[in-house]
Amino acid sequence: MRGERRRLENAAFCGTFLRIFYCGSLVKRRGTCYNKRVKSKYILRIGDLEIAVERKKIKNLHLRVGRTGKISLTAPFFVSDGEIERFAAAKYGWRKKHLQTVTTEEFSYVSAGKTHIFGQTVPLVYHADKEGFRGGALFLRCGAEGAEERVKRILKGLLEEKIAQKLALWEQKTDLKASSWYVRDMKTRWGTCNVSTGRICFNLRLAKKAEECLDYVILHELGHLINRYHDKRFYKFLSYYFPDYRRVRKLLNE
Ligand SMILES: [Zn+2]
Repeated sequence: MRGERRRLENAAFCGTFLRIFYCGSLVKRRGTCYNKRVKSKYILRIGDLEIAVERKKIKNLHLRVGRTGKISLTAPFFVSDGEIERFAAAKYGWRKKHLQTVTTEEFSYVSAGKTHIFGQTVPLVYHADKEGFRGGALFLRCGAEGAEERVKRILKGLLEEKIAQKLALWEQKTDLKASSWYVRDMKTRWGTCNVSTGRICFNLRLAKKAEECLDYVILHELGHLINRYHDKRFYKFLSYYFPDYRRVRKLLNE
C-alpha cells in the first residue's frame, strides 16, 4: 500500500485509463497553504466518467456516487488537479470493485482458436509452414498450447508497425513529437505519456481494437505533451483534431 501511495504521488505521467482503474490509498496532505488561483468548480472526465469537482475549505477528499449515478468529488484547495484526478480514479475503481461491477475475467489474446486483430475476429491456423497474418487468418507454427505467447508476439509486431505509421501522421498534424515510444501489455491504461521525458507507452491490447481506437490513444497521449491533465484545454485539443473522439473512446472501453 505504501508503494502504491508513493506511485500515486510521484506519477509524472498521465494516461488513458482502461475501464478497470488501479486501486490506491487516499492521498492526504496536511497543510494550510491555500492556492487561491485554483478552480473551485469544474468537471473532471476519466474515461467515460464525468465527475463534478468542487474545492472547499475542508481537510480531506471525498467522492460520492449519488442514486442517479451522478459522481461528485469535494477536495481541499491545497490539493492539485492531478492529485484530484488520481484520487478519483483510484477511489472510483475501489467503489466499482466493491459493487462488483468491475470485470474480473482474465484477459487473453486467444480464445476458442481465435484472436482479434484491429477489430476483426481472426481464426488461428496451427502448425503452418510460414507464420503471419494473411488472407484474414493468423498462421502459427505452433499448436494450440503455445498459441497465446506466439499470438502476443505477432500482435506486438503488427501494432508497432501501425503505430510507426500513424504516429508520424499525427505528429505532422499536431506539430507535436514524442521523444520515443514503446509497446507493453498493461492492465489499467491504454497509453501513458511521461510528460517530462516525452516518452509514450502504448498498451499491447490496442492491437485487438479497431484502428480508430489507436488513433484516439495516439492523439490523447500526444496531447499530454502540452497538457498534463485532463482539463478543459486538453479536451479542446482533442475535439479540435478528433471531433468524434467520444464515440471512439466508448468503443475503446467496450
Ligand atoms: Zn490522459
